[in-house]
Amino acid sequence: MPVPAIASVRNVKSGIAPDALAVLNSVFGLPGFRGAQEEIVRHVTDGGNCLVLMPTGGGKSLCYQLPALLREGCGIVVSPLIALMRDQVAGLLEAGVKAAVLNSTLSPSEASAVEARLLAGDLDLLYIAPERLLTPRCLAMLGRARVALFAIDEAHCVSQWGHDFRPEYIGLSVIAERFPDVPRIALTATADDLTRREIIDRLGLAGAPSFVASFDRPNIRYEIVDKQNAQTQLKTFIAERHAGDAGIVYCLSRAKVEDTAAALTKAGVAALPYHAGLDAGLRARNQDRFINEDGVVIVATVAFGMGIDKPDVRFVAHLDLPKSIEAYYQETGRAGRDGKPSSAWMAYGLSDIVQQRRMIDESSGAESFKRVSIGKLDALVGLAETTNCRRTRLLGYFGETPAAAKCGNCDNCLSPPVVRDGKVIAQKLLSCAYRTGQRFGAMHLIDILVGRLTERVRQFGHDKISVFGVGGELNEKQWRGAIRQLVAMGHLQPDSEAFGALRLTETARGVLKGETEVMLREETPGTRIRASRTRSRRGDLAPASTAAGKTGDPTLVGVLRAWRSEVARQRGVPAYVVLHDSTIDGIATQRPTTLTQLRGIPGIGDKKLEHYGEELIALVK
Ligand code: ADP
Ligand code: ZN
Repeated sequence: MPVPAIASVRNVKSGIAPDALAVLNSVFGLPGFRGAQEEIVRHVTDGGNCLVLMPTGGGKSLCYQLPALLREGCGIVVSPLIALMRDQVAGLLEAGVKAAVLNSTLSPSEASAVEARLLAGDLDLLYIAPERLLTPRCLAMLGRARVALFAIDEAHCVSQWGHDFRPEYIGLSVIAERFPDVPRIALTATADDLTRREIIDRLGLAGAPSFVASFDRPNIRYEIVDKQNAQTQLKTFIAERHAGDAGIVYCLSRAKVEDTAAALTKAGVAALPYHAGLDAGLRARNQDRFINEDGVVIVATVAFGMGIDKPDVRFVAHLDLPKSIEAYYQETGRAGRDGKPSSAWMAYGLSDIVQQRRMIDESSGAESFKRVSIGKLDALVGLAETTNCRRTRLLGYFGETPAAAKCGNCDNCLSPPVVRDGKVIAQKLLSCAYRTGQRFGAMHLIDILVGRLTERVRQFGHDKISVFGVGGELNEKQWRGAIRQLVAMGHLQPDSEAFGALRLTETARGVLKGETEVMLREETPGTRIRASRTRSRRGDLAPASTAAGKTGDPTLVGVLRAWRSEVARQRGVPAYVVLHDSTIDGIATQRPTTLTQLRGIPGIGDKKLEHYGEELIALVK
């Protein structure tokens, strides 16, 4: 295919048949569109409004970047996060696109220079913070400029019910009023119906099409393990599956963040802490290192991640249970934006359920809010306990029915858990809780069941009751698992006011009477990860990071990465802005020796070829 030079983007704009594919190829170095991208690009280029719902990593940016290049004038992108704007613009500049930002980080003279370029028609894309855009001055300036389109990124921020409400987003309804003839494209990764309706309403998109992509993230492998010693399990997980990879580890408390970061560092992992209690300078430095360097693991509270655009995060690990499936999905969604194999790994145990319940009970929210929160927690626990495909369950939660019942890329699909009739086990457990007055937690109940004569057991005379020592068929670990599953099924409930004492619920009666079936998963503590490693030796299940396409000559990959780090450092941009991992892998696999061959590798557009072509070929040679 003839490749138009970058300068011809302008010609394309004034030409009769704007060729989106040619621009995709010449500017972004990509061979084709993904999913609905092509349709969206055509629709917006033709002047239509729309709403785009795509998961993180789905490729939303191109949906407005290409129309902005293809249409007359400058595309205005409203984005809530300064870091995100900066990285997007850095990437566009690398690709030779005339892009700029207008936000509070600019000095007045820098801002004037950007405004002058906008008015002179010298910009293709301008990223503006919403509060800035809404100033009368900025609106007046846009009125004088030639605007190709308005893209409202992270559009769910208009929703008061959403998790990221930003008051300044409400004011964006002014765009439709002031610029009715300029196409508006709203984009978000938050799919729920209420949020969607609010976006349509507030941004004046009634009647405009919604493009809804599947929320599946097929490259992410979901895995939820039984929590034993979470830190040790995490270290094993990283060492065996993600050594040298960039990742995010989420913990609930600041103390645990610090502790975990220190433990990982000691184990030789390049780990950095991130939480609201850290000095602002250090926090910013740690975030920058995570974004800019290769293979840094950030250990963080949930405050971290919104607006982190890093495409090559290879794993997201949870050491504590998130609040809901929505939160879990959003946080794990930060892995693998580049589409390469990545892991979402979580260790969870009974104490997590107890802790989350206590947080809900102790919160000051209204009863209805607490009920909703408990429902959301229950749904997540259900996901953690399911013996079926996790992806099917996740997508089902969001109202999607996948084509296949088994995804083949979650722990339950890859090593199906053994499920047994657990009626007798459940009855023993429930009657133990019942006979001891529903006043004791898991530990004590297990002591009684396995017949352990502890001081406490003796003190309460629990060695005299009929269930003492009747549970020899399971060990302590297995009993823990059984308790957790009964809690997840709703037959037992931890009482957060009584330090996690386990109470029977309404449904427990049916189990005790033998009327309700109880299937329990065999506890296979920690073996699931090992199982996948063992299998990888046989070759049928490679660990995620190997499957990540690191198929190229490893020495060459190392050389290219070192070169990239150096270039990124010199230019002051993140490493992935210079070249994506997938592009490095492509080069290492195909070993191009001519510029034409190099140009054929996805991610190498005209500008990158011009800038780095000779150097890269020299490195290959
Ligand atoms: P989102 O904003 O939806 O989270 P991005 O626009 O950042 O996603 O795109 C995610 C990743 O997918 C980026 O690394 C981008 O280069 C890549 N990508 C997007 N569209 C395509 C495509 N058509 N072909 C190949 N890669 C693509
Ligand atoms: Zn599955």
